[in-house]
Amino acid sequence: MNFEFSEEQLSIRDAIREFAREEIAPDRLEKDESKVFPEHLIQKMGDLGILGVIFPEEYSGAGMGYIEYALVVEEISAVDPSMGLTVAAHNSLGTNHIYSYGNEEQRQRCVPHLTAGKSLAAWALTEPGGGSDAFGLKTTARRDGDDWILNGSKTFITNPNYADYCVVMARTNPEAGKAGISAFIVEKDFPGYKIGVPMNKLGMRASDTAELFFEDCRVPGRNLLGAEGEGYFNALGILDGGRISIAAMCVGIARGAFEQAMRYVQERSAFGKKIHQFQAIKIKLADMATEIDAARLLVMRAAAMKDKGQEVNLESGMAKLFASEMCLRVADEALQIHGGYGYIKEYPIEKFYRDAKLGTIGEGTSEILRMVIARDLVRKYAIDALPAEVS
Ligand SMILES: Cc1cc2nc3c(=O)[nH]c(=O)nc-3n(C[C@H](O)[C@H](O)[C@H](O)COP(=O)(O)OP(=O)(O)OC[C@H]3O[C@@H](n4cnc5c(N)ncnc54)[C@H](O)[C@@H]3O)c2cc1C
Repeated sequence: MNFEFSEEQLSIRDAIREFAREEIAPDRLEKDESKVFPEHLIQKMGDLGILGVIFPEEYSGAGMGYIEYALVVEEISAVDPSMGLTVAAHNSLGTNHIYSYGNEEQRQRCVPHLTAGKSLAAWALTEPGGGSDAFGLKTTARRDGDDWILNGSKTFITNPNYADYCVVMARTNPEAGKAGISAFIVEKDFPGYKIGVPMNKLGMRASDTAELFFEDCRVPGRNLLGAEGEGYFNALGILDGGRISIAAMCVGIARGAFEQAMRYVQERSAFGKKIHQFQAIKIKLADMATEIDAARLLVMRAAAMKDKGQEVNLESGMAKLFASEMCLRVADEALQIHGGYGYIKEYPIEKFYRDAKLGTIGEGTSEILRMVIARDLVRKYAIDALPAEVS
């Protein structure tokens, strides 16, 4: 077991850190306040390989693995979680669904466009009626000659206003249960496809989140993604990898908040001392740093397994569950350390605090992840597989 990043991984991390500090940091607070997505960053991130981290070079990707991807998402999120979320949804959800389950024509048509930063990708599973119960989705797709006609709506979708391609899950056979759901590539200019205005959010305000509406939206047959009836199962596979990036995003948010706290404890004085000299503050700092490292180890375990092609449902779920809840605790303590100034918008810490909350909701709530993890554990520790002394 090797706990060190390679020279190449460290240089990728450093390059992204520099990019985030120079290009993203300067106006992150204004963009958050005005909820304006920094569109000019799309092409810049494409040029740096950030929008194609996990895709092969033949599709204009950076040809890297999930370890590098987790490093990239952590670095961006440590500066601006809105951009971390944008990058995570683009890579692991929208683009990865087309790359992983698309045919060669779809891959050639869409993936290089997305990895090169010509546009973002979006991925639409959640509906107004429910996100956790994804199997209950109501959006329909019916055949019309060679085409499909989509009707319904989606909500809370990341990136759609800047996405030329959105992967949409819809019910193609109401009788077939889970096997009656299929995925489609919906292109931005398709008639009958409308994107709502950006939603007014608690955090991640500069990331684009919107509702989608499909009113007799005609989708050509060539845009059916994967086989008919496989959409639900493929979506679950996509979420396995997606959770690694959301966990990495949470590690980044926590680290960003922690770094703000580390700066503040060395600047701020009380009772004639720098506040880091108080034992109560020292305990907070120690707990925060320990938890961040623990979460990163879980993220990197899942990433390393994913890079080896192993099944990661359990490990990505654990990483995302722990990292997202850790991130809330760390952001809370980091803000507490700032006292009253933590509550004021001039300091970035209150933004980390607000942004942190998404982690326990998106790509599987904490409640759902505990169910997923427990289900895997019951399978792993099935009675007949237990050692004799336990049975
Ligand atoms: C900023 C943002 C970006 C997002 N981006 C995307 C995106 O790009 N694409 C996409 O498809 N979705 C996206 N989502 C949606 C997100 O994945 C869902 O919000 C999430 O899955 C929860 O679904 P819900 O909001 O409908 O909550 P519900 O499913 O209605 O859940 C409500 C509450 O009930 C709990 N609950 C539900 N079922 C159970 C159960 N069986 N046992 C115990 N508790 C349960 C939940 O944990 C939660 O606490 C995004 C959401 C946000 C806020």
